[in-house]
Amino acid sequence: MSESLLARHRAAMPSWLALYYDEPIEIVSGRGRHVTDSAGNTYLDFFAGVLTNAIGYDIAEISDAIRRQVDSGVLHTSTLYLIRKQVELAERIGELSGMANPKVFFTNSGTEANETALMLATQYRRSHQVLALRNSYHGRGFGALGVTGNRGWSASALSPFEVSYVQGGYRYRSPFRNLSDADYIAACVEDLREVIETTTSGDVACMIAEPIQGVGGFATPPDGLFGAFAEVLEEYGILLISDEVQTGWGRTGEHFWGIQAHGVTPAAMTFAKGLGNGLAIGGVVAEAELMDCLTANSISTFGGNPISTGGAAAALEYLLDNDLQGNAAKLGGRLLDGLRAHAERCGLIGDVRGKGLMIGVELVEPGTRTPSAAAAGRVMELAKERGLLLGKGGLYGNVLRLAPPMTLTEDEAGQALQIITETTSLAEQELH
Ligand code: PLP
Repeated sequence: MSESLLARHRAAMPSWLALYYDEPIEIVSGRGRHVTDSAGNTYLDFFAGVLTNAIGYDIAEISDAIRRQVDSGVLHTSTLYLIRKQVELAERIGELSGMANPKVFFTNSGTEANETALMLATQYRRSHQVLALRNSYHGRGFGALGVTGNRGWSASALSPFEVSYVQGGYRYRSPFRNLSDADYIAACVEDLREVIETTTSGDVACMIAEPIQGVGGFATPPDGLFGAFAEVLEEYGILLISDEVQTGWGRTGEHFWGIQAHGVTPAAMTFAKGLGNGLAIGGVVAEAELMDCLTANSISTFGGNPISTGGAAAALEYLLDNDLQGNAAKLGGRLLDGLRAHAERCGLIGDVRGKGLMIGVELVEPGTRTPSAAAAGRVMELAKERGLLLGKGGLYGNVLRLAPPMTLTEDEAGQALQIITETTSLAEQELH
């Protein structure tokens, strides 16, 4: 990115729209897992945009599907007319949902998807009480920020809901962190029950939760947590909404949806990011009874438009035909093993966690659990100098986030591991 574009960005756009890197880059082209900036530098993109480019760059099957729609002369008219690709994609996602009688509504983003799911649940249950998890992130609308358990984001909006936050997602900084998986789950369930009994009227519409917390630093609870939560929720008639915006489409390796690791089918799942491989598309899949509960009209002008649903349908078939979920499991496992082995030697790394190609590396002051955002910033810069783009996140901005396109090769995984190993060691020497 040239200085002048950066200066123009700063002048024309909001101060709170943060950019990565001391010298932000302008990406002008991409191929496979690599992107090239306007200065001609090529990088291995280990954050897949922001999990948006789930498959990678310049995928002919997806570009062709988009081009076919462009060639028709109609980019979009409105959702007042039938759109074949929209119906077909809804059917496909319904099939993949595992729900008994699924229906799908398309939006343009994850935020709108969560706004919709929250609208459905609160209308269905006629309650505006909601349960959410600490350290969560659900988007930037009033509803979505209103259930976000991270003040660094949520302070921008007043919640329209009465929200109670529970333990569970962020084990590394939980008071229950030293317990076994089973005891951790039991303690979280007890917390959930106590929160329902003591901070709500008991008449709660829903719980919204990410199976792995994305913005929260790929914080990964033990398998089974949400299944155990669901038993309590059922007692109170509380609906479970799984926010699959980051965890969907097989990214976690072992399952197509993140929540499937917990042995429960939620009442609704929300999705976005990876589905369109960069196109603006999101949506909700829910049981028909819940989806159809709205009595007022509701429409999205652009949600489900033929470009995004056509491109997303091609992306989804590509993902399934090439078993990218299997690739995520295989290479994610190797990365996790390599990073955990390195963490034994590198004091900067407090925690390595995740599943598939969704891996968080939490950086701390060596010998403590004190978060080190400075270390995360430094590793990002050092990795960029070596041609690797990483993501960052966590409640304290101290977690490196690894989420490359799911077409990642073994060689690329090895290169990234080598760079992360080198740069975390270097940052440790520099800072300590
Ligand atoms: N839900 C989760 C889990 C997310 O990570 C995000 C975005 O990062 C959203 C919702 C919001 O999606 P969008 O930015 O497309 O509105």
